[in-house]
Amino acid sequence: MSQTGKVYLVGAGPGDPKLITVKGMECLQQADVVVYDRLANPALLEYAPTHAERIYCGKYPDNHTMRQEAINQLLAEKALGGLTVVRLKGGDPSVFGRVGEEAEHLAQFGIPFEIVPGVTAGIAAPAYAGIPVTHREYGSSFAVVTGHLREEKPEQAVEKWRALAQGIDTVAFYMGIGNLPMIRKQLIEHGKDPKTPVAVIAWGTLPEQATVTGTLADIEQRLADNPQITNPAIILVGEVVQLREKIRWFEAAQVEV
Ligand code: SAH
Repeated sequence: MSQTGKVYLVGAGPGDPKLITVKGMECLQQADVVVYDRLANPALLEYAPTHAERIYCGKYPDNHTMRQEAINQLLAEKALGGLTVVRLKGGDPSVFGRVGEEAEHLAQFGIPFEIVPGVTAGIAAPAYAGIPVTHREYGSSFAVVTGHLREEKPEQAVEKWRALAQGIDTVAFYMGIGNLPMIRKQLIEHGKDPKTPVAVIAWGTLPEQATVTGTLADIEQRLADNPQITNPAIILVGEVVQLREKIRWFEAAQVEV
C-alpha cells in the first residue's frame, strides 16, 4: 500500500490569478490532483504539473453540482491513494468556502491536510474599487455576511439584522445580488440610515470588474439601471464607500452616482 498523501485546501484569491499566495502556488506546483471550483481562476491550473489530474467540481451549465459529500470523499480517496491533492477554492477557503466540512472529513480519516488562506473577495473587490473596508474615520468594524441570511430561524435573523444595522460599520454581503432588495429592506427596518452609502462590485480584481454605487435608499434602482453588474458580486454597505470618490484606481469603465 502506498503512503497516505496530503490535501492542501488552498485559497485561489478573488479573481486575478496573481492574487494567489506564494504558498498556494507552491502547493499547485506539487499537485498530483487539483480539485477546483467555479470561482477559482482556471488560469491557475497552468501552474500544476502536466501529469496532474484536474477535476472541476463547480456548477455545470445544467446547474448540476458535485455534492459536498462527494467532494469530501474524492479528496480522501485521492490522498489515501498516496497523492498530493490541492483543493483550490475561490477567495479564502474559510470564508463561505466549506473548508470546515472538508477538513473535518479528512481529520476523521486521519488524512494530513493544510489550510492555505487566500485573499477574500469581500476585502479585495472593494480595495480594487477604491474602498478600504476599514478606515480610521469611516469604519472601525467589518463583517462578512452571507446574502442568504433569510434561510435562518426568524428570531435569530432579527438579532443578526439588528446587530448588522446598528453595531457594525462596514458589512460585505457575499452570494447573490439577487438578495439586494431583501438586504436593504432588512437593514433599513432594523435602523440603518437609508442614506448609508452602498457599492455593488462585480467581477472584482478581474479586467471585467464593474461597480455601481448609491445609497441604501436608491441602490436597487441603480442596479436595475446597470444590468452589466452581474454575479459574482459583493454588496458593501458603509460610510467607507465614500472613499471611492477619492481613491478609485482600477476600473477603466466605471459607473458613478
Ligand atoms: N471563498 C470566497 C467566497 C465564496 S462565496 C471568498 O473568500 O471570496 C461566493 C461569493 O463570493 C460570490 O457570490 C460573491 O459574492 C463573492 N465573490 C467571489 N469572487 C468574487 C469576485 N471576483 N468579485 C466579487 N465577488 C466575488
